[in-house]
Amino acid sequence: MKKSILDLNIAELIEFLASIGEPSYRANQIFEAVYAQHKTSFADFTTLSQKTRTILEEHFYLRTFVQEDEITSTLDKTQKFLWKLKDGYKIESVIIYENKRTTFCISSQVGCALDCKFCATGKMGILRNLSPGEIIEQVLLMQEKIGKEPTNIVYMGMGEPMLNYESVIRSAQVLSDPKGFALGKRRITISTSGIIPGIKRFTEEEQPFSLAISLNSIDDKIRQKIMPISKKYPIDELMEAAKAYTESSNKLVTFEYVLLDEFNASAADAKKLVQLTHRIPCKINVIPCNSEDAEYAPPSKAKVAEFELLINDKNRRITLRKRKGWEISAACGQLYAKNEKKNQKQSKSK
Ligand code: SF4
Repeated sequence: MKKSILDLNIAELIEFLASIGEPSYRANQIFEAVYAQHKTSFADFTTLSQKTRTILEEHFYLRTFVQEDEITSTLDKTQKFLWKLKDGYKIESVIIYENKRTTFCISSQVGCALDCKFCATGKMGILRNLSPGEIIEQVLLMQEKIGKEPTNIVYMGMGEPMLNYESVIRSAQVLSDPKGFALGKRRITISTSGIIPGIKRFTEEEQPFSLAISLNSIDDKIRQKIMPISKKYPIDELMEAAKAYTESSNKLVTFEYVLLDEFNASAADAKKLVQLTHRIPCKINVIPCNSEDAEYAPPSKAKVAEFELLINDKNRRITLRKRKGWEISAACGQLYAKNEKKNQKQSKSK
């Protein structure tokens, strides 16, 4: 059965080439054509013989997605894409422009099992994991759409990356392979909602990629309410795992903190956040919530400013991220949900 060539790392490609009697250096030529030259047809792999191109064509796809939707923010140019996969499932990817950064935000699963209350993807439940190739294809397609390389890639779209660990790490390895996509390892961030075994494995394996933890509350009771996974992995243990990561890797960890009015955005929350994280070398990204659920609204601008002031600390980098693409439903799962509603309406009216 044909599969995506993006699912193969260079060692597997060498193995395949050996099986058809081709030398290993051909793998570098193929990686070059796929990841540097963005060839979308094996016929254009002109460094290979016609016979090899035909064999590749028989065994592999170069692209498997169909674009279902695309939307661009008129306010901040954030772009969001909805892709249909080969089996009909759909996933989202987003491009966020901020100063000199062009960040590609990619999905790691179809849906998500973790049911964070402020997230549209959580409402889908988990449908399946993405393969390494399906994770990589999002990046290639977005680069082709805008004709520009990303400066950063974040695994912060649909799904919990630590629950699809192997595919996530394999895709990040290809995306950072100097012979592959060649993005700097630290420019690739794996973001978790706090799956402690995943953080420990990431630490033990000395993964070179950056790590972000979606914290969102410093109070176990509140965190459990908005992020049910917190019942399994309480904040104290999560902080210990984060600290162990920073000590072992000698790198900062990033804490993402989505501000939800009435839940986690008070002055007392800000002070506790400082206390909780002061022993951990970290950056904190504060992001006003971008949920469509009226229960999870962003705080007022004044409250956001006060929160930022209270957590400000000259020893740490605090970034207040803007609500990017809020008018185009750029937060995770929202375009998918809109598209599904539109499709349901269309099929009812038939
Ligand atoms: S925020 Fe992330 S981990 Fe939580 S439900 Fe949404 S996709 Fe899953």
